[in-house]
Amino acid sequence: MVNGNKILEDISFIIPTLLTVFKFEKDTVIIDKPVSEIPKHLFDGKRNQYLSDHLLSWLQQTLKPSNGTKLLAVCSFDAYFGNYNFCFGEAIIGGKVAAVYLQRLLPQDGNGDNKVLSLLQDRLIKEAIHELGHTFGLRHCPLGSCIMYKSKTILDTDIKRREFCKICIRTLANSIGSHLK
Ligand SMILES: [Zn+2]
Ligand SMILES: [Zn+2]
Repeated sequence: MVNGNKILEDISFIIPTLLTVFKFEKDTVIIDKPVSEIPKHLFDGKRNQYLSDHLLSWLQQTLKPSNGTKLLAVCSFDAYFGNYNFCFGEAIIGGKVAAVYLQRLLPQDGNGDNKVLSLLQDRLIKEAIHELGHTFGLRHCPLGSCIMYKSKTILDTDIKRREFCKICIRTLANSIGSHLK
């Protein structure tokens, strides 16, 4: 059985793609130790989900990412914000914090654990790029193949590529340029 906690044991597989896509310098992408104590007020007991936007604020206030840092929380649990039933992830647009939530990314079993694991890894990488894209100021893109397309279902995530379209890549390059200054 592949589950969210298992994949969290080692998420270093996302690093090479992030280095390539965002042109981060080697050794500047760091996997920090897990956050184990999350305050109760970030959890909606009635819905059994975390409140994503509250979680982002809490991460920002607690972990205090420095200027020039982008913080991506990879969370094993389910979450939502606003009127949505759930979210695959959320980020502060042009901000420093983002989160991805594994629960809705978990594939159905049945194709063998290896296939399930590689599909989950692929989805996590895509969601990580998408949410980090938001932290660089990118908004949703109408192109279904672009990584900044908003996934309404997990099929949307599976269809889109790990890349930005021509327009989004330009916005990203401008943003990374000013981010590095
Ligand atoms: Zn988005
Ligand atoms: Zn795009």
